[in-house]
Amino acid sequence: MIYADNAATTQIDEDALNLMIELQKKYFANPSSSYKISRPLKKILSESREKIAACINAEPSEIFFTSGGTESNNQAIKNFVFSRLNEKPSIITSAIEHKSVLNSCLAMKNFFGTKIIKLPVNDFGEVNFDDLRKKIAKRRQIISIMLANNEVGTIQPIKKLAEISHERAKIFHTDAVQAVGHIPIDVKNLGVDMLSASAHKFNGPNGTGFLYAEKNLKIFPYLDGGGQESGMRAGTENVPAIAAMALALEKNCREMKENEKKLSTVSKILIDRLKSNNADFIVNGGENRLPGHLSLSFKNFDGEVLMNRLDLKNIYVSTGSACNSKTQIISHVLKALKIPKDYIRGTIRITFGKNNSPEDAENIAKNLLEIFSFNLKKN
Ligand code: PLP
Repeated sequence: MIYADNAATTQIDEDALNLMIELQKKYFANPSSSYKISRPLKKILSESREKIAACINAEPSEIFFTSGGTESNNQAIKNFVFSRLNEKPSIITSAIEHKSVLNSCLAMKNFFGTKIIKLPVNDFGEVNFDDLRKKIAKRRQIISIMLANNEVGTIQPIKKLAEISHERAKIFHTDAVQAVGHIPIDVKNLGVDMLSASAHKFNGPNGTGFLYAEKNLKIFPYLDGGGQESGMRAGTENVPAIAAMALALEKNCREMKENEKKLSTVSKILIDRLKSNNADFIVNGGENRLPGHLSLSFKNFDGEVLMNRLDLKNIYVSTGSACNSKTQIISHVLKALKIPKDYIRGTIRITFGKNNSPEDAENIAKNLLEIFSFNLKKN
């Protein structure tokens, strides 16, 4: 089989998996207990926090473990609104955010009447600096703009967007779920106040992730209980998964250059094969995209049909977005990018990961071309 849907989830790294199994077998104590057998767990937790912090140039005390990207995004946005309710805060976000950001904003609007401003994007999926400047208000405001888009792979100019936000003392959060472990991230250089990440997107296990919160930022408890995570997020920690996440991230960061090179070769093979065989398609998301991330729109085709035909050949890709794969509705991201009408329905997302090979790209191209020629003959 060929798995090329790494933006949906990645295969867990072998070393991370082995570590997780080993820890699960070896240690069963609660890391918060004060007896001897809990001490190794406390140590693993703090070492994992240090490793993760080092990968993004943060301090260990700025890392809060969560259950993944959805929770980190909910925590960043809702925490801000809950804690400043009497100041009637508002939120600026973009039209192409993940649902965990957009629906957190919507919940705040429905519960508290919070004003939500959604910035448009250009045809490549980038937010315009002046659009942001115009919408920054005098009142309390959080700006939440993703670092890299999950459907088309566009990388936003986050450093500049955070700088604009800070000129007016606003808090800047970025959903970096698709970017962490794939492109270099330095939170101090980017100047973000909060950043969300998820382990299963960088070859770590499912159900774990983290929120970075800059140390001077006043944040409030999100989950109340036994006071874990410096009192911000209570609940017994999943130490084996957290340790596996730290290892996977450390490994991906160490091998980033090599992986990037491999992914660009694999992507180029696929695009070149399709082009040299006259396939009629657009590559979405502009030039500045995540490595290995290809959102392709084929003229007068149906992305759902393409995905299903490839599925029959044991090739796994996605349509516009994994979250929308059960519906025929065109995703909010593809609509916001204004992809031409005769191409938009024919969109599939092929996202290569570190386990993919050049042969995978050759095979996907060959199968796609077969589907197209079969369709031509049929018509
Ligand atoms: N943000 C982005 C950009 C994503 O792509 C995803 C998952 O697809 C999430 C957030 C949610 O992450 P998780 O699956 O860890 O909850």
